Amino acid sequence: MRMTANGLLGSRGCMFTFHRVAASTDWDALPNRDFYIDLGFLDRLLCHLARTGWEVVTIEEVLRRAARADADARYVNFSVDDGYRDTFEEVVPLFRRHGVPITLFITTGIPDATLPMWWAGLEDTIIRKDSVIVEDETIEVGTPDAKRKAYLRIAKAWDGSDAPDRYAAFCTHNGINANTVHSKHAISWDMLDDLRLDPLVEIGAHGVTHDRISSLQPHAALSELEGSRKRLLKMLGIDARHFAFPYGRSGDCGPRDFEFAHLAGFSSAATTRKGLIRRGQDAYSLPRNTLNGAHRNLTMIELHLSGLTGVAAKTLGRV
Ligand SMILES: [Zn+2]
Repeated sequence: MRMTANGLLGSRGCMFTFHRVAASTDWDALPNRDFYIDLGFLDRLLCHLARTGWEVVTIEEVLRRAARADADARYVNFSVDDGYRDTFEEVVPLFRRHGVPITLFITTGIPDATLPMWWAGLEDTIIRKDSVIVEDETIEVGTPDAKRKAYLRIAKAWDGSDAPDRYAAFCTHNGINANTVHSKHAISWDMLDDLRLDPLVEIGAHGVTHDRISSLQPHAALSELEGSRKRLLKMLGIDARHFAFPYGRSGDCGPRDFEFAHLAGFSSAATTRKGLIRRGQDAYSLPRNTLNGAHRNLTMIELHLSGLTGVAAKTLGRV
């Protein structure tokens, strides 16, 4: 492992991404807790970064800095993906309190309510009920442990193209109004309209349907990219300059898709490949380090900031 000229020291940027936040007191009881970051931890992390000389910047600024040769610039970007109500109610207010920017990557099918958020609806139902009916089976979910196990088991079974149909049947069997649950968890166009002129909020696109771009035929892949950009322009009047690939790992987006992001008019595209931003970074395959429920102390963060998680991922072939 060589860490010399272009190694651990020198100008570097680190991009983090996450999905949802939850209060520390609620986090333990969430069936899908790994999908959330503890809000108290995120608060402490922003304090820690300010204390240790890491500046929080927009992706626009990440691109500017990656093109410069500052000797020891250290900067981070945070992006929150998909578009959940807690992004509007909790995440943006937290970043505002710290006076630092946050990037929102919006899947436009979420505020349009054309993308069934089965993962959020399933979790919401399991939290509220003591038993749920899945296909012909009744599953007891009376304790936090049972809720967690049931969520993981059902979500794993559903994770495929028929998940929306399975979720629709689940809503019928359990007396759930899918529209009500959607509004409870989704960010809306009104909320986004409230944020669009905020200098601390940068809004980018994250597809229309959240489909894995690499799995789509060329015209469908390009229309996911262009479609989300056009929808943000129509609904918010903003020219979204940045895109984040749904899922974002190596198998989810490749060189063809990076080129499509360029063709669709974006100035950058982000993945979830681990690693740091160095001078000369390709703008269409930006690495981002995913924060999830397992990140509740600063040790893992320090590993990301040092670049060691990216090095380890490459070494282990997990990119
Ligand atoms: Zn996503």
